[in-house]
Amino acid sequence: MNHTKSEQLHEEALQHIVGGVNSPSRSYKAVGGGAPVVMARGKGAYFWDVDGNRYIDYLAAYGPIVTGHGHPHIAKAIAHAAETGVLFGTPTEHEITFAKMLKEAIPTLDKVRFNNSGTEAVMTCVRVARAFTGRTKIMKFAGCYHGHFDQVLVAAGSGPATLGTPDSAGVPTSVATEVITVPFNNVEAFDEAVTVWGDQLAGILIEPIVGNFGIVEPNPGFLEHVHAVAKEKGFLTIHDEVITAFRFHYGAAHTMLGLTPDLVAMGKVIGGGLPIGAYGGRKEVMDTVAPLGPAYQAGTMAGNPASMQAGIACLEVLKQPGIYDEMDRLGALLEQGILASAKKHGVTITLNRLKGAFAVYFTDEKVENYEQAENTDGETFGRFFKLLVSQGINLAPSKYEAWFLTTEHTEADVEETLKAVDYAFSKL
Ligand code: PLP
Repeated sequence: MNHTKSEQLHEEALQHIVGGVNSPSRSYKAVGGGAPVVMARGKGAYFWDVDGNRYIDYLAAYGPIVTGHGHPHIAKAIAHAAETGVLFGTPTEHEITFAKMLKEAIPTLDKVRFNNSGTEAVMTCVRVARAFTGRTKIMKFAGCYHGHFDQVLVAAGSGPATLGTPDSAGVPTSVATEVITVPFNNVEAFDEAVTVWGDQLAGILIEPIVGNFGIVEPNPGFLEHVHAVAKEKGFLTIHDEVITAFRFHYGAAHTMLGLTPDLVAMGKVIGGGLPIGAYGGRKEVMDTVAPLGPAYQAGTMAGNPASMQAGIACLEVLKQPGIYDEMDRLGALLEQGILASAKKHGVTITLNRLKGAFAVYFTDEKVENYEQAENTDGETFGRFFKLLVSQGINLAPSKYEAWFLTTEHTEADVEETLKAVDYAFSKL
């Protein structure tokens, strides 16, 4: 496969854009380097790059593109917004329509507020939890990504009872020490940390299905325990459903799991591909937000007509019967095919899948927490990734990211993918 133009454009990008990319995860640094493929256009489950190569897309833009690229129903909504005004700075009826749709799909949302990204949504949930409880400390699970604001760019201390340390230059230690990080799926570590910090915690951030070190489901009873303890100790459960909302069914992951969070942050899928974030929760907590309450959150672009109409159109597509069952069916075919192929070539992998999202880890261990994901073989993943890209299969250049199916993938795409995977395994 020829990537000459991609390589030239990457060289040019390096002169003008930091690292040549507008988000670090798009660089190929984690897969042994090289020029990232520069895409020219997308349609349905496919991408075409600037050299004219076609790819089956499993990146789905890190989750949002659940209905594939250029979906006609969403394209029409965006075109309508472009013609009738993309930004008003006033209330619009679209905001109410969309808020009602979200509430209908996710019954734990008494009220919602729109903003522009998952980061903003989670960041505001943290502020609201602090305002509501009058406490400052936040707990999170190791390896879960919640955006790029200071409080969540924090690594674990050396044990469950120790305070966090900055994970990025520019994050003050004073901020990091407000954050406690514990391993996912580990009841003992969670209990130990709560024993020390429980009375000072404003909230705990929870990715109910982890999508940031592959795909990891909570062990039976784990999140139920976390919720029960949070209630007892008076801190809020903040579900970060930026990846999970409308990814696995028409609604949030917590509904599937039978959980009732105090606050829910959303983004990605609900924007139909346009920038969006949203958060919501129970009335008493949400009424802490300005102009009703003392917790401030605002945004020039928040609830803009373009994102609202794209989001409404996206949910209209997703509401059609059978949509999620088909992604599950294709996901199962990929899972079976990839496992069979790995066995045939003597390649050791662990595959975690939930419906149309899955992760392939190069390890013989199960992956239930970040440490286990970290211990998987990144060097082999890097070679696997490049072997797939060179055969027209596009996925995220990181061993920590998931593969996402869309409503537009077909069985023929799965077959083509499995052939490419089989070849890649034969060459590892
Ligand atoms: N929360 C989770 C679970 C995410 O995966 C992400 C992004 O990948 C975010 C929050 C941040 O969202 P955004 O990139 O829209 O700011």
